[in-house]
Amino acid sequence: MSLSGKTALVIGAGGLGGPALLTLAAAGVGTLVLVEDDAVETSNLNRQPLFKEGDVGQRKATAAAARLRALFPSVAVDARDLRFDAGNALALVEAADVVVDGSDNFATKFLANDAALRARRPLVHGGILRTTAQLLTVSPAGIGGCLRCLFEAPPPPGSVPSCAEAGVLGATAGFAGALMGAEALRLLAGERGAYEGRLYTYEARSARGRLVLVRKRAGCAACAGTQPLEAAAPPTCAAPARGEGAA
Ligand SMILES: [Zn+2]
Repeated sequence: MSLSGKTALVIGAGGLGGPALLTLAAAGVGTLVLVEDDAVETSNLNRQPLFKEGDVGQRKATAAAARLRALFPSVAVDARDLRFDAGNALALVEAADVVVDGSDNFATKFLANDAALRARRPLVHGGILRTTAQLLTVSPAGIGGCLRCLFEAPPPPGSVPSCAEAGVLGATAGFAGALMGAEALRLLAGERGAYEGRLYTYEARSARGRLVLVRKRAGCAACAGTQPLEAAAPPTCAAPARGEGAA
């Protein structure tokens, strides 16, 4: 099937999800489902290319859909102004051919991992913090490990810099989001993903990239498809002054 018959679910339309959505739409993916429950803030504009100054205060789902439809009228954009949570995760993931996680908090990232493995859909995970970007494609075919194979569980609150403490270099988000979109295109085209079972880390300051194999962890419930889907915690970025670890 060509790309026009495919559906991509993108969680978050911010720093990672925005560039990923633009990449997917420009390539001609038929249906883009985006899930986003935030409003546009001035501080988002340095790294969230779907939004312009006039969008500040608007719902991100509405503004993102309007922008994508204006740029790519032939792409069906299904924008949901809601939080990706334990109640809707499985249905959203099952309806997609590929899942791109551009969310901004660890709870959502682990939920996306667990739901994708349970529904046997490929998931392109991405994260950013300051000047570092990280990508991992979680494979339903069991190629390598998943997010829980790497980290087991979300980090305890306070162990990772908060939104206010950390920051994000806007270009790092754009770079990572575009790579996530390109990876999703490879998967939709039936090719093997470049980050399938492999963790890619890029450090913008040194321009160094690293790709390492992620081994399956024995007994990983997510990989077995039996990890309970837990309620996502409230966003870690209630007032994203400079953006959190991810979007
Ligand atoms: Zn796993």
